[in-house]
Amino acid sequence: MEAVRYYLGKIAEKSHLNAWLEVFEAEALEQAERLDKRRSEGHGLAKLHGVIIGLKDVICYKGHTVSASSRILQNFTSVYNATATARLLAAEAIIIGRQNCDEFAMGSSNENSAYGPVKNALDETRVSGGSSGGSAVAVQSGSCMVSLGSDTGGSVRQPADFCGIIGLKPSYGTISRYGLIAYASSFDQIGIFAKNIADVSLVLGTIAGPDSYDSTARQKAFVQPEKSEDFTRKYKIAYFSNALNHPSLDASISTQIKGLIQKLRAEGNEVEPVDFELLDYAVPTYYVLTTAEASSNLSRYDGIRYGYRNMDQQNDLSLLYKKSRSEGFGPEVKRRILLGTFVLSAGFFDAYFTKAQKVRKLLVEKTNQLFNQFDAIILPTVTTPAYKIGEKKDPIEIFLGDIYTVYANLVGIPAISLPLFKNEEGLPFGLQVMTSQNNDLLLLSLSKQLMKIQAFDRENAG
Ligand code: GLN
Repeated sequence: MEAVRYYLGKIAEKSHLNAWLEVFEAEALEQAERLDKRRSEGHGLAKLHGVIIGLKDVICYKGHTVSASSRILQNFTSVYNATATARLLAAEAIIIGRQNCDEFAMGSSNENSAYGPVKNALDETRVSGGSSGGSAVAVQSGSCMVSLGSDTGGSVRQPADFCGIIGLKPSYGTISRYGLIAYASSFDQIGIFAKNIADVSLVLGTIAGPDSYDSTARQKAFVQPEKSEDFTRKYKIAYFSNALNHPSLDASISTQIKGLIQKLRAEGNEVEPVDFELLDYAVPTYYVLTTAEASSNLSRYDGIRYGYRNMDQQNDLSLLYKKSRSEGFGPEVKRRILLGTFVLSAGFFDAYFTKAQKVRKLLVEKTNQLFNQFDAIILPTVTTPAYKIGEKKDPIEIFLGDIYTVYANLVGIPAISLPLFKNEEGLPFGLQVMTSQNNDLLLLSLSKQLMKIQAFDRENAG
């Protein structure tokens, strides 16, 4: 109860950051009271007993609004729980509210929300990152312990990087997508924000695993080892030399990651450069395939079945569709539906969609080859630290900023952003780490080790 009160206070104190679209105040207090009672009666405690969690506004919570931060779903109420939500509740977590994001999870700065941008708590003139900006800032500003977001091309890792916290995108299929509003189904994955790896692991262990409602969820049970980690293990790590020397990469990011590489070597790890030229194709491939999937997924918002409807067009069905969709969707979502419809259209299908699928396959093959030789890949998470709200207007420029994150979604591997660095201005940025598909546990133990190495160094420096 005390904990819920504390976090409700924090949410109110930080409300100007615009991270929360709705706070379930009365409900969270009631749930806390129930849990307190169970505890005092001596019942056993479930895994997430009393853990206070926020949900990105794309994850269904039965009886609560879920709008994807879009006007088109403004008054839509979830009719069932997402599997992730159901598992959180069964583990006695307390869901405290619904978090702002880019509309339908499309964006990199949370400036595409119908409810306004989320401000970065470290510098309120800067973006939070996106699309799960609200979820990142909620954890960053201490308004909840953990958030669930979604990551189709970086939407958990990129805002985590901008906000100086941890953001994990598990392997594709680790967490059921049932009850996650679809953006691009072959890329989408629920992800976790927290301030330490232990919390990330605990939540992942609770919500991951097979689900009969999602045939793309991995069939094998997700089992975490009982024994404690081996911190003496040495790793074989690859880094993409073309990525670290990329013209779009901020100099300070490049220098500090190179410094970390030296440190890792000094600790006895093998860290090798790899020329991964296909990386330059990742962004175009991602934006062809995801917009194609989005144009299909978003066709269900037609003004008839659910969501916003233009009420002036009751006698003309075609006009009703057009008006409802034109008024319900924001500009970025419209851009992507148009782009996706174009790449799927008869005359252009082979030139764009089929070609992009081939590149995706090639990326998977090359990645598998890499993991025959290496345990992990390290990369920057983003090309620059958080920029100013309103600073970037050119969509292509924004798309290109996703170069390091979309890769993991294209090939389905797990990836995490770890808050290891700060630039001269004190802005945080992350290190991105990836392992082979379904090797999420290895990713988490390596992450713990990396957090330790860097923390030790920070202490020594300070
Ligand atoms: N920035 C990427 C995009 O706009 C990623 C979005 C996401 O992961 N949901 O598509």
